[in-house]
Amino acid sequence: MARVDLHAHTTTSDGTLTPTQLVRLAVENGLNALAITDHDHVGALDEARKAAHGHDLEIVTGIELSLVEDGVELHLLGYLFDEKNERLVATLDRLRAARQTRAARIVERLSDLGVDITLADVQAEVGEGATTRSIGRPHVARALMTKGHVASVTEAFDRYLGDGRPAAVPKEKLGAADAIALLHDAGGLAVLAHAVTIPAERREEMVRRLAAHGLDGLEVAHSKHGPVERETLGTLAHSLGLVETGGSDFHGTNKPDVKLGSGRDGNVEVRDETLNALKRRKAARRP
Ligand code: AMP
Ligand code: FE
Ligand code: FE
Ligand code: ZN
Repeated sequence: MARVDLHAHTTTSDGTLTPTQLVRLAVENGLNALAITDHDHVGALDEARKAAHGHDLEIVTGIELSLVEDGVELHLLGYLFDEKNERLVATLDRLRAARQTRAARIVERLSDLGVDITLADVQAEVGEGATTRSIGRPHVARALMTKGHVASVTEAFDRYLGDGRPAAVPKEKLGAADAIALLHDAGGLAVLAHAVTIPAERREEMVRRLAAHGLDGLEVAHSKHGPVERETLGTLAHSLGLVETGGSDFHGTNKPDVKLGSGRDGNVEVRDETLNALKRRKAARRP
């Protein structure tokens, strides 16, 4: 039985394994397909494909985008698109440039709060290519750890960086209809990520809105989803004709309890049939 993971991050965004290290781990874990879904970035794919060469591991083109729809923040996964699509590339460039400006503003906020940290400290956590990779709050969180201000990434989010906390600065987000159209125009599919992060009272409404904009799938299995959420989301996906997908949302040591290919305590188990369903959906979109 072929196993897959359709949601994972590398050092190109806020994961802690390089694309090559992630591919090695996927092979060790016995996966046969891996979607790399870095935030606002497709730069890991080439290296991952090279690293997968000679292994029985398919690298699936992926991305994770942040959206805002009627005041609610959502994450959208894109799959099987043309990563060289001009409008997509231009949009991702713009989103990453906005992330750089925002990182500087987060550092300013922290300084105003009396926390000793500089943009260079944050860039050191991003590492090589600090100005071209997708810089985000997890890098700030790691810098806060390195400087001894917090003991963990979780503590950094709880005290400073989480939504509504004193150093949180919103990032640029796409609208749902625009983001879905962008992925479709690039030949790909749009899947709503970890719906559990949407406030419960607005969850179903949001899924229905996105479905009306052409959403293709719903991430039913995710490391944050328990059995009840999987059941509810599976039923909703089925009723709206959406593909039921799944992925761990692996981030390496930034989310230490989430394992590639199996999620949290084995709560994510995805088969190649899921990837095949996405491929069929894509084929059906084509005239
Ligand atoms: P950003 O894209 O810069 O807004 O940062 C959001 C990212 O931070 C998410 O993709 C997660 O990887 C991570 N994140 C959000 N909340 C937490 C948390 N409480 N603990 C650890 N990581 C988090
Ligand atoms: Fe992330
Ligand atoms: Fe996400
Ligand atoms: Zn993710």
